Amino acid sequence: MILITGGAGYIGSHVNKALHKKGYDTIVLDNLSHGHEYAVKWGEFIEGDLSDSDLLKSIFNSYDIQGVMHFAAFTSVSESIEFPVMYFKNNYKNTLNLFKNMEIANINKFIFSSTAALYGNPESIPITEKNKLNPINPYGKSKLMVEKILEQKSKEKSNDFNYISLRYFNASGADPDLEIGEDHNPETHLIPLTLDAAIGKREKIAIFGNDYNTPDGTCIRDYIHVCDLAQAHINAFEYLQENFENSDDIKENSVFNLGNGNGFSVKEVIDTCEKITKKEINKEIANRREGDPDILIADSKKAINVLNWKPKFNSLDKIVETAWKWHKKLNRNI
Ligand code: UDP
Repeated sequence: MILITGGAGYIGSHVNKALHKKGYDTIVLDNLSHGHEYAVKWGEFIEGDLSDSDLLKSIFNSYDIQGVMHFAAFTSVSESIEFPVMYFKNNYKNTLNLFKNMEIANINKFIFSSTAALYGNPESIPITEKNKLNPINPYGKSKLMVEKILEQKSKEKSNDFNYISLRYFNASGADPDLEIGEDHNPETHLIPLTLDAAIGKREKIAIFGNDYNTPDGTCIRDYIHVCDLAQAHINAFEYLQENFENSDDIKENSVFNLGNGNGFSVKEVIDTCEKITKKEINKEIANRREGDPDILIADSKKAINVLNWKPKFNSLDKIVETAWKWHKKLNRNI
């Protein structure tokens, strides 16, 4: 059985579905601060918080858990700038509590939900795992602190702890069966907000800055489908299992970028949304949002080669198509 913390959230719920499709049993732990109970359609569900050691102990005592996939975290860059301590407490301190209780229960396989925000303003594009880590906001810093602890933990001779950290670029799209999808409240991400404008839920989409150092002046990001991300977690877990005896290999290969390797500007994303929805979308140029690097594009060759990862939704059209279908379902009462 695999424990999925934050499995009621966007990425965690898609991983939960993918694990079940592959025959794994899962247990989801989520405090529902951002996730949705309706999104836990597979496995067992426990509502609770990672700061609750008694709960963690009872879960680890009651279930035969082979490994943990850890998604539970706050994920908004802007919010992290406003409330940094809250981010360090939830994303870092609560993860330490999870580690402490995993250690007591002797659970030694861990997949971490990390982020391209670790790279800050990257020194070179595309970004490989060897790029300098220099997060420019508390969200990225809180995730880097967890990665640092993971690195140390895996080096300790006294335990046979192994982990893989997956650094996502821009997670997007939805389950093609439309059982689950992106449903943040409040929503802050470009694609769902643009689709809100297309569906009439909001008047317009604000483009945060058009004076970045990019061809059209708007920020460039690498959008990766959430189902492709989900598949990478399974590949990563199986890689950990298969290579556990030879943990030197795993230690060489513990961090992976996950992106498509293509960059799209904010304007290009909005154009694609107009094309797929066949609607004209109102847009306005607004101020830059603090903490946004100009360009983030992944080099994911390592995941492709080592984890045998094959992203299927490799065009922005395919990503926006699934996002739009889900968006219409989610907002069917509008
Ligand atoms: N963005 C925008 N308007 C919005 C939301 C986002 O222009 O209403 C921009 C944002 O500044 C960034 C890109 O879209 O350059 C992607 O932002 P998102 O929040 O979706 O993901 P992030 O890159 O922050 O993980």
